[in-house]
Amino acid sequence: MRNITKKYTNGEVTIVWQPNMCCHSGLCAQTLPKVFRPMEKPWIVPENGTTEQIVDTIKLCPSGALSYKMNDQE
Ligand code: SF4
Repeated sequence: MRNITKKYTNGEVTIVWQPNMCCHSGLCAQTLPKVFRPMEKPWIVPENGTTEQIVDTIKLCPSGALSYKMNDQE
């Protein structure tokens, strides 16, 4: 399988998603459904959540498919 990395940003934080690692636990969607919407395209809409909410949710991801970087820490 190809190594794909997708990035989504709200201008403050960048959400990094590696679909090959996702185990589809659904935890992100249950925790922050306005941002993580598996049935929609794009499925991640970072503008719908605060940076704090996004970071807290990403830390729950069991597979490591979700990670983040702060945009001011290049
Ligand atoms: S929490 Fe992580 S492993 Fe679970 S669905 Fe979301 S991205 Fe995939």
